[in-house]
Amino acid sequence: MDFRINDEQRQMRETAREFFEDREVLERARERIDGEAVVDDLWADLSEMDYPALTIPLEYNGLGDDVLYLSLLLEEAGRVALPAPLPETLAFGAFVLDELGTDDQKEEFLPAIADGEQRLSFALYESGQESLPRDIQLAAAPTDEGYRLDGTKTLVPFGKQVDTIVVAARTGSGTGMDGISLFLVDAERVDSEPQDTLDRTRPTTKLHFDDFTVDESALLGTEGEAGSVLQEAMDRYTVATCAMTVGAASRAVEMSSEYGSQREQFDKPIGQFQAVKHRIADMWMATQAARSLTYYAAWALENDEEDAARAVSEAKLFCSEQLTQVFADDIHNHGGMGFTSEHDGHIYFKQAKAWETFLGTPTEHLDRIADSHDL
Ligand SMILES: Cc1cc2nc3c(=O)[nH]c(=O)nc-3n(C[C@H](O)[C@H](O)[C@H](O)COP(=O)(O)OP(=O)(O)OC[C@H]3O[C@@H](n4cnc5c(N)ncnc54)[C@H](O)[C@@H]3O)c2cc1C
Repeated sequence: MDFRINDEQRQMRETAREFFEDREVLERARERIDGEAVVDDLWADLSEMDYPALTIPLEYNGLGDDVLYLSLLLEEAGRVALPAPLPETLAFGAFVLDELGTDDQKEEFLPAIADGEQRLSFALYESGQESLPRDIQLAAAPTDEGYRLDGTKTLVPFGKQVDTIVVAARTGSGTGMDGISLFLVDAERVDSEPQDTLDRTRPTTKLHFDDFTVDESALLGTEGEAGSVLQEAMDRYTVATCAMTVGAASRAVEMSSEYGSQREQFDKPIGQFQAVKHRIADMWMATQAARSLTYYAAWALENDEEDAARAVSEAKLFCSEQLTQVFADDIHNHGGMGFTSEHDGHIYFKQAKAWETFLGTPTEHLDRIADSHDL
């Protein structure tokens, strides 16, 4: 295992950073917060750079890169709070298609994703469900032509801004991840309502399935047996969000350092006082540790390592607890600026808070780590 970034990866990261800055993506995140429809334009820009093709296999016009490479790109995306469904499309959607899709489904979707013509998201959560969506209830009953879906999904990331949604439903009688099937659903066909949540850079949607029919061709993989692939897709998406949070935390450390050397109190920059200096050093250490955990989790997933699930939970737990604190510390370090939503610290803090419980609270991930040690 070698975590050093090679020249090609370093070059990709530098290009991505310049690109996100040139295209003023953070400004567009602010527009998104104000309710503007920025995703279509942004997606065209991302496609110009071939970013939606990154992890699509070569035979489907993709670039064939792995989840670690995607994490490096998403780290840069996190610095600018990318308000577009890139992690949803690649870490989740393209992954399940590649794992479970028939040749026809792959032919239809994967090249279209790579070309920037298809954006994907996923529908997992249902009202009243605990934070890890293990016990999916939305029912999919077989019909003559396919399946009939009945139920409601909530917290679908970018539900109104994507073309296709991977919907998790129960076709079997099991509980937990047993008896789960995944369906490819045309987002336009679904009755949806926007939800007002904490992180407005990444809008979420409620989907109502009421006697909603899909063809048999919408089913991904074998009926009732999508549980393990779904779990890995959730893990990959979780690592993708960790990578974005690490990128945002790096930016928060930079902002605190810059402010600490500019803002003077008692005739010297506040960064020279231990209370501030040590806080920034702690923020830096936490960010470095989170980066290592995230890279390791990405590598472990890609290489099917035995401890991959634990590694994902370790990265997620650490990002949820320690990096949320980094964003809070950043706001404190900028105390003298007064209350201001123009400060980027707000955007990062709210996003990290929203992700803190998405796909597992810290306690749930702690449980998974304990389980992996047979505790
Ligand atoms: C993104 C953002 C969100 C905010 N949200 C809110 C909010 O929700 N509610 C609200 O009331 N306010 C909010 N604020 C405003 C902020 O909390 C206040 O402006 C703050 O109380 C002012 O602190 P200060 O004057 O000590 O700052 P500064 O003097 O600039 O201090 C900055 C940091 O340095 C430390 N410090 C300063 N001098 C020394 C010293 N000599 N030795 C050691 N440490 C020192 C301070 O404790 C602080 O941590 C927010 C600010 C930002 C930037």
